Amino acid sequence: MFDYIIIGAGFAGSVLAERLASRQKRLLVIDKRRHIGGNCYDCFDEHGVLIHQYGPHLFHTDNKAVFDYLGQFTEWRNYQHHVLAFIDGQNVPAPFNLNAIEQLFPKVLAETLTAKLMSIYGYGKKVPILELRQHEDADLKFLADFIYDKLFVNYTAKQWGLKPEEIAGEVTARVPVHVSRDNRYFQDRYQAVPKHGYTKIFENLLKSPNINVMLQTEFKSVMDFDTESGALRLFGSPFKGELIYTGMIDELFDYRFGELPYRSLRFDFEHHSVEQFQATTTVNYPNDYDYTRITEFKHINAQKIAGTTVVKEFPQAFDRHDAGKDIPYYPIFTDANAKKYTQYQEYAEQFKNITLVGRLAENRYYDMDDMVARALQLFNDKW
Ligand SMILES: Cc1cc2nc3c(=O)[nH]c(=O)nc-3n(C[C@H](O)[C@H](O)[C@H](O)COP(=O)(O)OP(=O)(O)OC[C@H]3O[C@@H](n4cnc5c(N)ncnc54)[C@H](O)[C@@H]3O)c2cc1C
Repeated sequence: MFDYIIIGAGFAGSVLAERLASRQKRLLVIDKRRHIGGNCYDCFDEHGVLIHQYGPHLFHTDNKAVFDYLGQFTEWRNYQHHVLAFIDGQNVPAPFNLNAIEQLFPKVLAETLTAKLMSIYGYGKKVPILELRQHEDADLKFLADFIYDKLFVNYTAKQWGLKPEEIAGEVTARVPVHVSRDNRYFQDRYQAVPKHGYTKIFENLLKSPNINVMLQTEFKSVMDFDTESGALRLFGSPFKGELIYTGMIDELFDYRFGELPYRSLRFDFEHHSVEQFQATTTVNYPNDYDYTRITEFKHINAQKIAGTTVVKEFPQAFDRHDAGKDIPYYPIFTDANAKKYTQYQEYAEQFKNITLVGRLAENRYYDMDDMVARALQLFNDKW
């Protein structure tokens, strides 16, 4: 009946479903949640505020092909994301930039630091925090240590539950010092939010009559996968088509090489009867409180509505047996975990009827645009 079964209705699964359906393939998309959209799902809360259920999602890309592809499924509203970080009682721009230096340090010191950063790295450069810390110059070393202590170390510890040196370079490299006065969080060419929300994009991606969607369905409750032979069964009958799997790779293979570690999050939503809760969409709290950041949704969606809803993010250990902690938001990158993932990946290669794609199946962090680009590329290469 179906040519393909896709597990997961996030961007990885939904983009592939849309592409394959456009070639007249018949598809079944299965997701264990009660909605489509994966972690990008948004909805109106009881107060009428459009919220992002699984944490704030801001679309930004330099990839015109991805922006244009998604533009077939949504109208965009221009939006530039701004983040502040609460440091020593003040809100300063994040990522840390020349304006933050000016705000936090006495004038002469600020001028010295700015001049040195400009001459060594050049205006506009993003310098990874760990690179700056290794610098010989005493002033830059002071600045690096300040940023490391006040912005990075406690945030990282809260976010990952690890010491900074235990985190792989690809994560720390994402925390730059920006030699610039541009207070925007992203500098990409295309920055926008879907005018009618992310969920609408997914409804449009999945609307072909060739696509059947089954929600609230744990994949293994309707399918059997023999992890030795690769044989698949759907509702008890052999399934001869292909499986596209976007869930956790370790779960697919019954944890045969052990569990891959993930970080989870708890989201506490609060509604306030005020026009505006905070000055920008997101304020980071590197040192104070147990949450890492507060996001106010009205800034993102420009809704004209009384009251406002914010979300506080509390990082927590992932535990697949605990309903409050069982969503794997971020793979934890360490050398040992990378090795374990490689074992799974190599094992998976023998099954030609299974394609693993997505942040959980590939055990890596993808921004939305990278995820869409990856799915489009895979489709072009493979099908
Ligand atoms: C907190 C947070 C904030 C983010 N913010 C941004 C941002 O601002 N900008 C940006 O570009 N990107 C952001 N991202 C990244 C973005 O969420 C990902 O790029 C995107 O979700 C990846 O899509 P995916 O399809 O791989 O995964 P997902 O969206 O997680 O979809 C996977 C789906 O598979 C389903 N599934 C898994 N296992 C099973 C199973 N066994 N049976 C049935 N269904 C199953 C899940 O229920 C889920 O719906 C953020 C991510 C997080 C965690």
